Amino acid sequence: MKGLKKFYRKTLQERWDVLQDRKILTNEQIKCLKRTTDATELGNSMIENFIANYSIPEGVSFHYLIDGRDYIVPMVTEEPSVIAASSHGAGLIKKAGGFKTKIKQRLMLGQIILEDFQDFQELREKIDHEQASLLRIANEAHYSLIKRGGGARWIRCRKLADDLMSIDLAVDVQEAMGANMLNTMLEAVADYVRKEFSQTVLMSILSNYATECLAVAECSMPLSNLKKENFTGEEIGHKIVQASRVAQLDPYRAATHNKGIMNGIDAVVLATGNDWRAIESGAHAFAARDGLYRGLSQWTIVGGQLKGRIELPLPVGSVGGSIGILPLVKVNQKILNVKSAEELERIIACVGLGQNLAALYALVSEGIQKGHMRLQTKSLAIAAGAKADEIQQVLSMMSKTKGKNLAAAKAAIKEIRR
Ligand code: NDP
Repeated sequence: MKGLKKFYRKTLQERWDVLQDRKILTNEQIKCLKRTTDATELGNSMIENFIANYSIPEGVSFHYLIDGRDYIVPMVTEEPSVIAASSHGAGLIKKAGGFKTKIKQRLMLGQIILEDFQDFQELREKIDHEQASLLRIANEAHYSLIKRGGGARWIRCRKLADDLMSIDLAVDVQEAMGANMLNTMLEAVADYVRKEFSQTVLMSILSNYATECLAVAECSMPLSNLKKENFTGEEIGHKIVQASRVAQLDPYRAATHNKGIMNGIDAVVLATGNDWRAIESGAHAFAARDGLYRGLSQWTIVGGQLKGRIELPLPVGSVGGSIGILPLVKVNQKILNVKSAEELERIIACVGLGQNLAALYALVSEGIQKGHMRLQTKSLAIAAGAKADEIQQVLSMMSKTKGKNLAAAKAAIKEIRR
């Protein structure tokens, strides 16, 4: 398309001009893009073909009592009711003593994929024999990690097919997520394997299936705490357990169960400048670890207590990537008051469990729509064109109508403006 060629070489103003000249956007729409940018043009140095800073609302979630410490959790999300649900779930758990977390280790895995090898067993023995040299080569490629107490820890070989194998490298990446660090180390080891072992390397890259970086969050509460309107606590607890079983048995339900969990997790991952695609892919791969895609959390009743547990890979960082670049991330780290990436992992696992409890609690009692639509109606009012001073009136009119939809919101606005 004319004018769009070499778009990346144009200044920001030139890019806007092209979009306007080619009638892709109107003057008003260009103004909308311009309003999002500031003098620093940070985004322009972060990504390619930058035209605007797309913003998503941020809120805070309360009642997170984790391993005896209280946290206020910043969450970035465009979905109404996520933050309210998160605070509700965390509140139920806090009332019974809060969350407990466990983290065994924080290692990132990377892969060097070899093809056309002759004898897997022989090559594996050779690699095992040279493990110390390979780890040294990896460490020399990113030596600063050693100085921080991290570094390459072990290597293993896995046969993937008759002609394909993976050399997995595990690295302690300290406070970073470690993708770039690991990729640098992997390429150095891959070079050695290519030259010294005369092997064909197909590729080398970290794995987002971070099985050596798992976080566990647990909670327990008396069934009586779950009592609601027409339901006893025992009834709700039992239904939550049944819902949890369904998510273990049926991938159709498991996907939605996990989507609800990721509503909370992604919102904190985003707020803290971490790579949510990496967390998403790892979480879903982990959910399918035994061959069937299952819910990431499970609920049981033991001795009159509802017990919840979630386990998932959470390779987040407190430094690196965009974390040190985006000003709001620093502010959010301050709100959270976290001291380390490991502490952040613990919090995020709890947010996943709290979010899940709130969703299941609503689903098995009043249903998800009542609470959801209460908050969703506000979005409908805005989407229908309600101005700030009209929203409350629109909401009140819509509360009296049956159809909570865009048409109803538009009708309410029309009525107000008559
Ligand atoms: P960086 O490349 O930014 O590396 C981490 C940086 O943090 C290094 O510069 C390191 O310094 C510095 N640092 C300071 N203090 C510490 C500390 N205590 N511990 C560890 N590092 C410290 O980030 P990552 O390697 O974490 O890579 C994350 C980025 O990679 C994300 O933006 C992600 O989106 C992207 N990515 C993701 C992929 C995937 O998920 N598949 C693939 C490729 C990239 P020094 O250099 O001195 O060690």
